Amino acid sequence: MSEQLTTTPTFDAIAFRQQLHRFPELSGNEVNTSQVIATQLASFGLEPVIGVGGHGLFCVIDSGKPGQTTLFRADFDALPITEKATHNHVSHHDGIMHACGHDGHTVSLLKVAKHLSVNPPQHGKVILLFQPAEETGTGAEAMIRDKRLAEQPIDNVFAYHNLPGFPLHEVIIKDNTFACASVGALVSLKGKTSHAARPENGISPTNAMVELIGFLQSLADNYQDAFCLVTIVHASLGEEAFGIAPGEAKVMATMRSECNHAFSDMKRRLTSKVEQLAAQHGLEMEITWDEPFNAAVNSSSHVELVKRVAKQNQLNVHQLEEPMRWSEDFAEFLTQWNGALFCIGSGEAHPELHNPDYDFPDEILETAGTMFIGLAKELHG
Ligand SMILES: [Zn+2]
Ligand SMILES: [Zn+2]
Repeated sequence: MSEQLTTTPTFDAIAFRQQLHRFPELSGNEVNTSQVIATQLASFGLEPVIGVGGHGLFCVIDSGKPGQTTLFRADFDALPITEKATHNHVSHHDGIMHACGHDGHTVSLLKVAKHLSVNPPQHGKVILLFQPAEETGTGAEAMIRDKRLAEQPIDNVFAYHNLPGFPLHEVIIKDNTFACASVGALVSLKGKTSHAARPENGISPTNAMVELIGFLQSLADNYQDAFCLVTIVHASLGEEAFGIAPGEAKVMATMRSECNHAFSDMKRRLTSKVEQLAAQHGLEMEITWDEPFNAAVNSSSHVELVKRVAKQNQLNVHQLEEPMRWSEDFAEFLTQWNGALFCIGSGEAHPELHNPDYDFPDEILETAGTMFIGLAKELHG
């Protein structure tokens, strides 16, 4: 990785987006990305607060007059995926790519920064926030914990995600839960190996593992009122050796729900089931929770505002019946403050997020910028 990201001297949104795409950085390692964003903001005459919750940064555009405070958020981390593309801005970093379009989200918000630096809000304050480590579900929380952000009197928060499978430029939104809570659960059960001819001399986790898999398969059925889903993603038992009765088992499952309460209840039930199985079979147990996300819950009035601004800009609005099954750590902002997360269509035939042939559609940079600027205008004149 000798080549690094450098700042583009004059701000050309598409060129800047493609430059970010060439030099993606993984969650928690976004040193250069963070730096070029800060430099770009400074070139607009803004004063970014840097090193917020890791490599995060934000800038405040203050009208100097009383009023509300609105925060717009973009993320900027990439994924451990090898890009399969032939365009001329293909990733220069082996095994890392912007496969979720965070390069585009960032540049949309830089467009807003440029606009507001020349046309500041008439009342109140606008905060433009650039967040690292979204994919691991840690960046938002780390930024919110930083005193310099926590002390801001925030009234409204907004973010968007681009969304393949929907027409280009379409604004996709939903009242209440927009994106699900999710977590990865890794359950380890430890007993004792023995000779396969003498299984009674060991402590095998086989029966506990079988029961646990059955339990996980039906866990979501306990919640009829809210969408819940448990997907077993991996399981292993013992060694691939005919002479050894197993001493260890591992089960991994991803749990999702549209409801934060049902979600914590599922986690609680899993924990007590594993404790019960371990006690019953004389096993040691451990549960590790990985990549936790809350559900992203939108406020009705903010959803109405997003719809209004979309219509003002002749954008088609698609109201979802069911929440997105994926998770977004913007949920942390929505847990703290009222606001809305929405999506902008990336094109019906566009490669899906996290696919190796995905690339952010530059056409929607303008659409996203227009949405944010419209929201700022509605709330701050
Ligand atoms: Zn993603
Ligand atoms: Zn994403």
